[in-house]
Amino acid sequence: MQEPLEVPSTPSKRGKVKDVYELGDGQLLFVFTDRVSAYDVVLPSVIPRKGEVLCKLAAFWFGYLKTPHHMVRLDNSNRMVVRKLKMVPVECVVRGYLYGSLHDRLVKGEISLPVEPVLASKLPEPIFDPTTKSDVKDEPITIEQIENEGWLDPEQIEALKETSINIYNTMSLRAEGAGFILADLKLEFGFDEEGNIFLADSIGPDEFRLWPKDQYAPGKIQESYDKQPIRDWLAKMGYKKTLDEARRAGQPTPRPPDLPPDLVAETSRRYVVAYERLTGLKL
Ligand code: ADP
Repeated sequence: MQEPLEVPSTPSKRGKVKDVYELGDGQLLFVFTDRVSAYDVVLPSVIPRKGEVLCKLAAFWFGYLKTPHHMVRLDNSNRMVVRKLKMVPVECVVRGYLYGSLHDRLVKGEISLPVEPVLASKLPEPIFDPTTKSDVKDEPITIEQIENEGWLDPEQIEALKETSINIYNTMSLRAEGAGFILADLKLEFGFDEEGNIFLADSIGPDEFRLWPKDQYAPGKIQESYDKQPIRDWLAKMGYKKTLDEARRAGQPTPRPPDLPPDLVAETSRRYVVAYERLTGLKL
C-alpha cells in the first residue's frame, strides 16, 4: 500500500463537489469533498461521509465496468489519482425513466417521446439525452449540435452513445439485484494524448438517480437514494422557483437556504446505504 500523497496547497480546480490537484506526470488528484450541489448550485451545507461514498463507489464502478477508465488508484478513503484527460465538453446522460428535466420538457411540449407524460414511468428503452457541461446550468444539446461544435465526429458520438447506454444497462442490472431502480445516469468521457477515449469523472449518487424498487410506483415523486430529497426540499421551499427566475433575468445566483439537520442526516444515511447495497461492502 502506497503512502497517501502530500496534497498540494491549492487545487487547480475547485469543482462543485471535487477539488482537483495537478500531480504532474499527466495525473490529477481528485479529493471528493462533502459538498453538495443541486440545480448546479453548491449549497451552504455539507453531507457527512458523502466524499468517502462518492470516491469509493466510483472506484467500485470503474473496477466493475468493462470500459477503459481514468482511475489510476485510490489514494485514501476520499482521494483518487486519475489520468489527466482532455474532457469531452458534453455530459452523456442516459435515461430509463421519465423524470426530472426530461419530464418537464415533455410536459412543456419541447420534445416528443412515445410515452404518456406520467412522471417516473419507464421508457420503452433507455435514451441518450446529452447536455452541455456548464458552470451555470447544463442545457440539453442535440447530436447535430455536438457535431457542429466540432467536439466529436459522428463515429465518436455514436460510440459514446452506445458505450453510455451499455454502461447504463450493466449498472441497472447490478442496481436491480441490490433492490434499486437506476432511473438515469450521467457519464463524462475524455481523450488521452493519442486520442483514445476513457470513462472519466466519477460515478455515484451525484451522477444518477437510484430508487428503491419496493416503493416504486409511476405517477408520483419517487423516494430516492441520492440528492433528490435535497432537490425536492429546495423546490418545496421555493428556492428552485427563485433560482429559475433569477437565471431567466440574468441575475446572480440567489443564496440557497441552509439544509435542516434531519435532511442532512437522512441524505448522509442514504448515500451510505446506496454504497453498501450496490457494492455488497461495508463502508
Ligand atoms: P463540476 O464542478 O464540473 O460539476 P466536479 O466537482 O465533479 O465537477 O469537478 C471535477 C472536474 O474535473 C469536472 O469539470 C470534470 O469534467 C473534470 N474531470 C473529470 N475527470 C477528468 C480527467 N480525467 N481529466 C481532466 N479533467 C477531469
